[in-house]
Amino acid sequence: MIKLNTNENPYPPSPRVLEALARASSADLRLYPDPEARALRARAAAVYGVPAERIMVGNGSDELLQLLLRATVDPGQRVAFPVPTYSLYDTLVAAQGGCAVRVPFGEDWRLPAGLADAGARLTFLCNPNAPSGTLVPTADVARLARAVEGVLVVDEAYVDFAHTSALPLVADHDNVVVLRTLSKSFSLAGLRIGLAFAHPDLLAGLRTVKDSYNVNRLSLAAAEAALGDLRWMEANVARIRATRGRLTRGLAELGWHVLPSETNFVLARRRGVDQAPTAAALARRDILVRHFAVPRLFDALRITVGTDEEIDALLAALRDLGH
Ligand code: PMP
Repeated sequence: MIKLNTNENPYPPSPRVLEALARASSADLRLYPDPEARALRARAAAVYGVPAERIMVGNGSDELLQLLLRATVDPGQRVAFPVPTYSLYDTLVAAQGGCAVRVPFGEDWRLPAGLADAGARLTFLCNPNAPSGTLVPTADVARLARAVEGVLVVDEAYVDFAHTSALPLVADHDNVVVLRTLSKSFSLAGLRIGLAFAHPDLLAGLRTVKDSYNVNRLSLAAAEAALGDLRWMEANVARIRATRGRLTRGLAELGWHVLPSETNFVLARRRGVDQAPTAAALARRDILVRHFAVPRLFDALRITVGTDEEIDALLAALRDLGH
């Protein structure tokens, strides 16, 4: 099976992660974890140059997104985000009884006008965006942070594959939350570790709705080891970026329109031609890619950047299928 549908990393995590797990003792199973995740936050503080009191650890960034909704949005209140984007925002807003304000991206994938004055308690910006792979410049994110009435969440799940980050905004914008995950660039989707960076008062609000023992001891230890080996992550990111170029060129040669990607996936399009049959034909060859049955994306496939071998197999299959 060649799995290019959920944006996982095709390379293994740092060996230090497995070493940390091997060092675990029965106490790590018997005892509760640190509700404050102090050791991991201290490591993250050193790595990202952000004080530990501005960092919170979640069970994946998905948990942090949910805590943000529960802490800030009452039923009927507005939550704005540009679309198309990460589909979980819609799900979480609905679960909280909030009112989703979906502001469409234009063809250029720049920040859409109207996002800032949507009157939202919470605004989500997935940057780089999924599934487009495109990046909004940090200066535009900073302008948005100053313009919104409520909290701006910048979901940077894919930022290690991009060339800029909004993390510095947290230092002087009290309403900005930057979310990171170890699921993509650090190859640890199974571990479930997300990081929120924000003003301590905002994080205090999130703690009021957080399960104390939200992250288990093994994941905390393993995540600390991963953040202690940035060079391993960076080497994998470099390989994935190189393969992203190979995939983009290969698809273009076959006639696909590919958006310039700042992530570990690309969005490739055949204008006006439904790509559900292509995704199904690839699945019959044990190659999984993502198709979205929505009007804006029906003619596109989102393809995770795998290894060079996986991408070559995908391109060969597409060529063979006449795509
Ligand atoms: N944000 C975006 C944009 C994502 O694509 C994902 C992964 N599906 C997440 C957040 C969640 O990541 P995590 O594994 O940390 O929950």
